Amino acid sequence: MKHRMTQNDLLRRLPQEHLSLLRELGNLADEGGVSLYLVGGVVRDLLLKRENWDLDLTVEGNGIAFAQLVADRYGTGLARFERFATSRLVFQDGLKMDIATTRRESYAQPAVLPTVQPASIEEDLSRRDFTINAIAIQLNSGQFGCVLDPFRGQRDLRARTIRVLHAGSFQDDPTRIFRAIRFEQRFGFRLERTTVRLLAQAASTNLIQQLSGPRLQNEILLLFAEHDPVRAIGRLGQLKLFRFLHRLLCYTKNVKRVVTAVPKALAWWVRRFPDSVIQRPAVYLMALSSESSAVVVAAMIRRLALSREQAKNVSAGGRRVDRVLNRLTNKGTTRPSQVHRLLTELSDEALVLLLAKQVSAQHGVRLSLLKRHLVTYVKNREIRTVLTGQDLQAMGLQPGPQYKIILGQLLDARIDGMVTTEADERAFVRKRLRL
Ligand code: ATP
Repeated sequence: MKHRMTQNDLLRRLPQEHLSLLRELGNLADEGGVSLYLVGGVVRDLLLKRENWDLDLTVEGNGIAFAQLVADRYGTGLARFERFATSRLVFQDGLKMDIATTRRESYAQPAVLPTVQPASIEEDLSRRDFTINAIAIQLNSGQFGCVLDPFRGQRDLRARTIRVLHAGSFQDDPTRIFRAIRFEQRFGFRLERTTVRLLAQAASTNLIQQLSGPRLQNEILLLFAEHDPVRAIGRLGQLKLFRFLHRLLCYTKNVKRVVTAVPKALAWWVRRFPDSVIQRPAVYLMALSSESSAVVVAAMIRRLALSREQAKNVSAGGRRVDRVLNRLTNKGTTRPSQVHRLLTELSDEALVLLLAKQVSAQHGVRLSLLKRHLVTYVKNREIRTVLTGQDLQAMGLQPGPQYKIILGQLLDARIDGMVTTEADERAFVRKRLRL
């Protein structure tokens, strides 16, 4: 049975150009003889009056053929994913749109990707994760703006509740455990009673273990990329979910304090260095593993199938950061070049972690000192020597390991302001080499 209700005003909450485009696509769907719907997060966010520019469409009929029609009409880029009968379009103004085919899903085993078959819009909505994400708005011209809400998602939105559609939902797809926590924390909603019970039940089994590395990674990184993931991380801890990253991951009180300090550290960093691009999820992952051994961190990186670059970032966050922090806040470290040498190997994410650790230590004097060091370091880190290895050779020095030492000393001298011109640099090198 179709549960329809007209809400003309809902789509008007979209920017005018999106609204016009959706009207045109509705007409195109009429021409192609298919039913077209706006679905998923954008519908939920329209109802919540939250901005969302991810236009997810689904077609009752051949979604790939319809996407091709749209691509031809608008001259967009088109990528097809035949396995799930979905396509991604990129319009010339950068707008991205996913067009799927309404489908039914069946799970051969828990935690694996489902097999899919074309189905009605109602069946498509019934395979979704939560009632608030199982609402559709029809776009065909005669029904433009009609809302389909068979699971009473609008009621749950009003009640600020996350609810699964059926008891086997987390078993079918344990990524929904993380999604539930993500939406709960993002919107400040509550998990409905039965949903909490089902989630806790699924979390207490080994279902998550069966998720592939990339799927687990995707969920963890999405969760950590939320605007304020601290409470979500607390929820993961409460549900003992960190054991799926590694069974020996130490989620101690101290780790919690560091994680809690990350938003403050990030806010300071972004204010001071607005041009630096920080991978926020990596900072949280580092904070989370900050008291775990290198072996545990390495195993966690493997479990999450992190890319080489992500892995490098996250593995730099361990005890090394503590050593650097100790030396930095030690009274003997005063010269800018000393600070530079200590910090130069660390990524910006590790620097934010350093700051978070100091914030969590609640030692005002040391925190101010560290902030001053970070400002000096970032200001100085673009400094380069004018002389290169070739210049040293031209000055009569035989190539060898000394080059690195001398150029390093020269850089120190530049950073400390002892040499400022090329002539100063040459004089510095001559003096070193007693030329
Ligand atoms: P976000 O705002 O974080 O992007 P979203 O709801 O748009 O949230 P997507 O991951 O883009 O999330 O998914 C789009 C829609 O697809 C969801 O709203 C939901 O209806 C459905 N969906 C996504 N993942 C799942 C899943 N694991 N199980 C069932 N349905 C899902």
